[in-house]
Amino acid sequence: MPAEQPKEASTQIDNEKPHEVLKKSELEELRRQKSREWKKEYNKNYYQIHKEELKEFARNHYQKNKEKFKEYKRKYRQDNKVRERERERLRERYHSDPEFRAKNLESSHKRNLKLQEDYKRFKIEYGGKCTVCGEYDLDVLEPHHPDGKNEGGRFIKSKEFRDWLNYGIKPNVVLMCANHHGKLHILKARGELVDPYNP
Ligand SMILES: [Zn+2]
Ligand SMILES: [Zn+2]
Repeated sequence: MPAEQPKEASTQIDNEKPHEVLKKSELEELRRQKSREWKKEYNKNYYQIHKEELKEFARNHYQKNKEKFKEYKRKYRQDNKVRERERERLRERYHSDPEFRAKNLESSHKRNLKLQEDYKRFKIEYGGKCTVCGEYDLDVLEPHHPDGKNEGGRFIKSKEFRDWLNYGIKPNVVLMCANHHGKLHILKARGELVDPYNP
């Protein structure tokens, strides 16, 4: 019996880890956002107080570095033109070159198939069945998010799904069949049900 205990403890820690990582990254994003807002407010006030000084400084700074600024602008416009020409070239080739178009379509088709496979893997990792009725057809299962964001078709394109793919960070979702998922949201919207999956 005592030999079993450390094994159990380590499994528990492994299960907790992804959630900790997720919460931490969410907190960090929130902190960054708050700090951006605060800086914006601070800069606005600072600008109002030192308006004339700042304008004078900007004028001098521009006069001193005039050539550098012009060069920078010219280069930026030039690079942009190059990028735009490249895009235009690809667009034209896509329309006029059937082989190029076929290759393009094929690779995007392959990417899509791979994504669908990954999505299935995701559903299997999340239990592979509806939490209400036990439906196990992966094609009709979808993740339900307690706060309702990035659900249905949007989930596969979400940052959460990419984070799961790339870093194994587990999003806070439960699987439901399309029927029960739809029903849950209807009841929630009517105020007839408090989300049972809301932590
Ligand atoms: Zn169901
Ligand atoms: Zn939902």
